[in-house]
Amino acid sequence: MRENIRNLVPYSTARDEYQGELGIFLDANESPYGREGLNRYPSRNLRETLLCRLAEYRGVPKEMLFLGNGSDESIDLCYRVFCEPGINNAVMIAPSYGMYSVCADINGVQRRQVQLNEDFSLPVESLLEACDDSTRLLFICSPNNPTGNAFPENDIRRILDSFTGIVVLDEAYVDFSSGGSMRGLLSEYPKLVILQTLSKACGLAGLRIGMTIAHPEIISVFDKVRYPYNIGTDTLRLALERLDPERINAQTEEIISQRPILSSRLEAFDCVEKVFPSEANFLLVRVKDPSGLYDHLIKDGIIVRNRSTVRGCEGTLRLTVGTPQENERLLRSINEYENPGQSDVQAGIPFRRASRERVTRETKIFVDVDLDGAGESEISTGLNFFDHMLEQIPHHGGISLKIKAEGDLNVDEHHTMEDVAITLGEVLLDALGERKGIERYGFALPMDESEAMVLMDLGGRVDFKWDVDFTREYVGDTPTEMFKHFFQSLCTAMKCNLHISAKGENNHHIAEAVFKAFARALKAAVRKDPFSYSVPSSKGVL
Ligand code: PMP
Repeated sequence: MRENIRNLVPYSTARDEYQGELGIFLDANESPYGREGLNRYPSRNLRETLLCRLAEYRGVPKEMLFLGNGSDESIDLCYRVFCEPGINNAVMIAPSYGMYSVCADINGVQRRQVQLNEDFSLPVESLLEACDDSTRLLFICSPNNPTGNAFPENDIRRILDSFTGIVVLDEAYVDFSSGGSMRGLLSEYPKLVILQTLSKACGLAGLRIGMTIAHPEIISVFDKVRYPYNIGTDTLRLALERLDPERINAQTEEIISQRPILSSRLEAFDCVEKVFPSEANFLLVRVKDPSGLYDHLIKDGIIVRNRSTVRGCEGTLRLTVGTPQENERLLRSINEYENPGQSDVQAGIPFRRASRERVTRETKIFVDVDLDGAGESEISTGLNFFDHMLEQIPHHGGISLKIKAEGDLNVDEHHTMEDVAITLGEVLLDALGERKGIERYGFALPMDESEAMVLMDLGGRVDFKWDVDFTREYVGDTPTEMFKHFFQSLCTAMKCNLHISAKGENNHHIAEAVFKAFARALKAAVRKDPFSYSVPSSKGVL
């Protein structure tokens, strides 16, 4: 530890002398006016409550836990506490997370980067050789960013056994790894400092909370050196509110299960040379033309990390594993890059998008559906209320939908509404393709005062039931009798079971509730089961 830090008398905050929450606070020159306690400096009790919760969550005593403004603060603190500028040095693996070297540069500490072996394994001997008497810190990241691999505990032990300084083991991605945390080593090695974060698996990167797990003596020094109020009241409150281990586990499992699917589908592209194995929530992918693919993705609104100029990662992009829908969009975009003009089909795996133009003497209808879209809609049929109803489908169905209809509205609304239904049904059917991996059934519970219920089975057989009574002939410019005909035509074209019932008082609400319930039923039925890519039928075909 640096001499000045050892001798440091820390700033004592006004509130340190009084631990309670009640009273008249005239000690810290805060404003007496404010809401939700934000006129006050963050309370020690709140910080302590979060500290206890996180200690329990991570299975460590609270004396061994430090909370910082992201793990970035802890990286910086390591330098400030242990390294004398211009005298000490830090050893770190490369390629790895950039902040180890940036913080070294900020703190005027010499850095020594040791390249990982070609297979990304840990060069234990070279790391130890790079250390000398002035080396205070040795940074290892496992699973490593950006290579994605985790290092075996034995390698870390060999370093801890030989190196006399502080070993910083960054476990930002540990929740995605099969090996788990190495915090068990702390009881044997008090010079080990482990970094974890709420930014990755916990899904709270915007809060900026990082955790350092280390020997209580190191933790108390970090607490002495940190800014007195390094975590704000809102952040502390939100962290307590959002730290839900069940949710975090479910989301982490989903990302872990998506990882091999994404990896194997990426490998199928000609432009992809290699997908490196990953124990993290990202994949390092070596591609033929990284800048070309990167630029294509950017134009398509997809941002990935170009690591192609990083030594050891030549030719690579780093892709974060997203939601199944985001991953699908990424794959589709790469497919478009590789096969310009064939945007709808990727080798072996159909994208769930379809479009069609249907022209008769009475109408000209264009419909485009993306079942994995982000809910974009562009709808114009010439009937304002009908448009408003159709907009419910993408909005509440979580799909993207474009409908452009030009019909003989001068005759009446019938042809336009019927042909929109037929075309929409056919396009939905097309987009479903072989229906592999879908949930198949959709239900919607009664909604609003209008109590609409839509039951759906995308099993391929047609059955239509309609139990909806309107008391007005028109809502806006749209005839209410046409709603039954609309859904009947849609049901036939889409080849599904569709049972719709609704009751209520307000005709606008009844119609809207039916469209919303239809959208919800559709959303549930077309959703992909992340654990299955088979046809959801005991017959094996639908
Ligand atoms: N460590 C590693 C290895 C990272 O990749 C990152 C962020 N990309 C961090 C730490 C920073 O985490 P935090 O958000 O907690 O500052």
